[in-house]
Amino acid sequence: MSGPVTTADVPAEHVASHPEACPLEITESRRTELGSVVIRRALPRRGRRTVGSWCFVDHLGPAAVTEEHGLDIGPHPHIGLQTVTWLLEGEVLHRDSLGSEQLIRPGQLNLMTAGHGVAHSEEATGRYRGPLHGVQLWVAQPADTRHGAAAFEHHPELPQVELTAGVGTVIVGDFAEASSPARRDTEHVAVHLDLRAGTIDLALVPTFEYALVVFEGAVTLGSRTLEPGHLGYLGTELDHVPLRVETPTQALLFGGVPFPEPILMWWNYVARDRSEIDAAHAEWRAGSDRFGTVASPLERIIVGPPPWASGER
Ligand code: MN
Repeated sequence: MSGPVTTADVPAEHVASHPEACPLEITESRRTELGSVVIRRALPRRGRRTVGSWCFVDHLGPAAVTEEHGLDIGPHPHIGLQTVTWLLEGEVLHRDSLGSEQLIRPGQLNLMTAGHGVAHSEEATGRYRGPLHGVQLWVAQPADTRHGAAAFEHHPELPQVELTAGVGTVIVGDFAEASSPARRDTEHVAVHLDLRAGTIDLALVPTFEYALVVFEGAVTLGSRTLEPGHLGYLGTELDHVPLRVETPTQALLFGGVPFPEPILMWWNYVARDRSEIDAAHAEWRAGSDRFGTVASPLERIIVGPPPWASGER
C-alpha cells in the first residue's frame, strides 16, 4: 500500500514545510487507483507536504477484494521513512526483506522502518474475501535514524481511550494519557477515532501541528464540516479541538512537532536531496543487497528514473 509519490502529488523539488496557524484548512485529496483499489491521497499535496513528520497519507478503499486479488503490490523499496498500516476492514499480508510475513487485521498496526533501505510487498491473504478499507501513512525519519537499520513491528493490540462520544485508539505516540508501544523516532501521534453522534473535545499538544482525515461519516468544527476525501489541517498552538458528530464516524487525528528539515520525496523514497534518491533508485534497479529480497510471488516493481534525470526511461 505504498503508493508511489509522483509529480502529480507534489513537484519533485525541495520545499520546506511551513506550518501556519489557521483554523481548519480543507484540501481535497487526489483520487488515484492502486490495482482495483481506489486511493484518496490526503498527503502530500501541493499546498501541504507534511503534518509533523507525517509525509504521506493514502486512504485505501473501501474496495472488494478476493482471496487472490487485493492490493497486489509487489516488492518495492523504501528509504528514510516508516510505513504505518491501519485497517478498518479486511486483511492484508505484508512480506518484507527482513523476512517478516505478517497478516494485518483491523485494530492492529504494522509499522515498518526503512532506514537505509528495505523492500516489502502487500498481498492478498489467500483466504480473505470481502471489503478492504484502511489507510497507509508514512513518517519521515529524522537525521539520526534515517541511515540506520530497517525494522518491522506488528502490534496486535493498542491502547484505547474513552471519549465523550466514542473511543480513540492510540496507534502511535501519546494521547489523553495513553501511550502506544510502537516505535517512534520523532514527536508524533496518530489516533483512530470511532465516534458516535455527540460532541467530542480532543486534547492536543500546542507544540504539535495536527490534521484530520475522515474515513466514514463527517466531523464538524465550528461552521466547517470535513468529509471523506479531504485533509482537514488544524495548525499548531491548539490545546484542544471540539468536534461535533451527527452520524457514526471513523476518522484519524494525526500530528506532531513540525518536521525541522526540508524533505525530498519521489516514488517510494524520502530523502533530502536528489543524489540520495538517484543512488537508492540505481541500487533498486540493479537488485543490490541494499534492499534485500522479499519472498513474494509478485513481481518486483521497477520504474524509470526520477523526472530530473535525463536519458532513458
Ligand atoms: Mn510500500
